[in-house]
Amino acid sequence: MSIYSELYDVLVAGGGPSGVGAAVAAARNGAKVLLIEKYGFLGGMATAASVPAFCPYTDGEKVIIKGIGLEVLEAMKKESKFDSPVKDKKELIKRMYDWVPIDAEVLKRVLDNMVIDSGCKVIFHTSVSDVIYENDTVKAIMVENKEGKNIIDCKTIIDCTGDADIVVKAGGQYEYGDENDLVQAVTLCYRISNINMEALVRYFKESGDTGNLTKAVERARKNGDFNFNEKHVAGFSIQNEGVAGLNFGHVYEINPLKAEDLTRAEIESRRNIPAMLDFLRKYVPGLENAVLTSSGPMVGIRETRRIIGEYRLTVKDYFNRTEYEDTIARYAYPIDVHASTPRDVVFHDKDDEYITSKYKPGESYSIPYRALLPKGLKNVIVAGRPLSADRAMHGSFRVMPACFATGQAAGTAAAICSTENIELRQINIGKLQKLLKEQGAFLG
Ligand SMILES: Cc1cc2nc3c(=O)[nH]c(=O)nc-3n(C[C@H](O)[C@H](O)[C@H](O)COP(=O)(O)OP(=O)(O)OC[C@H]3O[C@@H](n4cnc5c(N)ncnc54)[C@H](O)[C@@H]3O)c2cc1C
Repeated sequence: MSIYSELYDVLVAGGGPSGVGAAVAAARNGAKVLLIEKYGFLGGMATAASVPAFCPYTDGEKVIIKGIGLEVLEAMKKESKFDSPVKDKKELIKRMYDWVPIDAEVLKRVLDNMVIDSGCKVIFHTSVSDVIYENDTVKAIMVENKEGKNIIDCKTIIDCTGDADIVVKAGGQYEYGDENDLVQAVTLCYRISNINMEALVRYFKESGDTGNLTKAVERARKNGDFNFNEKHVAGFSIQNEGVAGLNFGHVYEINPLKAEDLTRAEIESRRNIPAMLDFLRKYVPGLENAVLTSSGPMVGIRETRRIIGEYRLTVKDYFNRTEYEDTIARYAYPIDVHASTPRDVVFHDKDDEYITSKYKPGESYSIPYRALLPKGLKNVIVAGRPLSADRAMHGSFRVMPACFATGQAAGTAAAICSTENIELRQINIGKLQKLLKEQGAFLG
């Protein structure tokens, strides 16, 4: 039977961190699941945009992203032979779970295996291009690939496209960026190799420089050798012996939903890389002979749409640590909203919300189930980047560990609906929470 003629309980659109969490959770809980991904591999921004590291899995004291997200992390570390250089027990918990470098090729394979082992069916090189809906219910989705257009009927659909594509096609409401329709800058992440590891490790040890290369940037700026619109390097991660990943180089005033803007971003980013390499070679010991190994494949997108959901998380909730009866995930990452224009770049720590909004170790906030439910759509649930929230709150939960967690919650909810033949809003929240906890999720 063709993939297009089957009836699935759950369709998952998009195979990034949220899509993987959703598909695996739904399949493990007994649903018949189809995961549709436009690229030829899973991982979303981690693999398609070479984002170099996972944001923290801990609240500074203990691991709070557990379940499927933690399984992915552990499987990737095991296969990529990850070894933290830190041996101090107190520090080790953070180093093993916070800012773990991503080995993208290992991650792709880990995610393939996990999804297949869950019993979920996957189709690559296929995009969800439209939906057919009636009475607030999506009846079928349209997919497009080299075979042409095909329609797949659906019961429940989980929108993990990062851009809320399904919600928009079904007429759902959303917000976009700030009051001027601006979103965070995009970045083409890239990998360099031919690093002298001994010299690099010695440099970090002796200078106390960090993954933002702040000290190297300071020296270069004084000498007039750092002419980028950047406070510092957003991220530098040693990914393998002699290989590092860079999250470096913002391209501002881009609308990532417009192909023309994305084209400009790709070209501008590639054009800027040689100058960035010059800086790295001159100011970071060990990188003197570093070469560019790969970029992308696509420019990384931090922000587009946020759905209007049954509950809208706000910055007040972040600072109040608001608790909900329908908590389905927790997270603790600070508010990390990158500048949209060169004029918004913040140069001093005291003005940097990423620093000023940090929680104390052991604290975390709660994400309610209602923030995943788009208003007015009965059988669509959203996970990952576009949850219902204001921009500041989005600046925290948009990162990958939280996306795995909201994905797992959406997938588990969708599976319950299919087993019990009920709608997403009829779910017994206690039952959903119990199942999530039994399957490893941390709800506090
Ligand atoms: C430059 C940059 C640096 C970052 N740094 C970090 C970091 O250091 N650590 C961290 O944890 N997070 C980081 N993030 C954030 C994080 O990577 C993303 O927010 C996260 O990956 C979002 O997960 P997601 O599943 O919601 O969406 P995505 O990761 O964007 O995945 C969406 C998936 O859906 C697919 N898709 C989209 N539309 C369709 C469609 N219509 N049909 C079929 N498939 C579709 C895409 O191909 C993609 O695979 C960074 C992001 C960027 C851009």
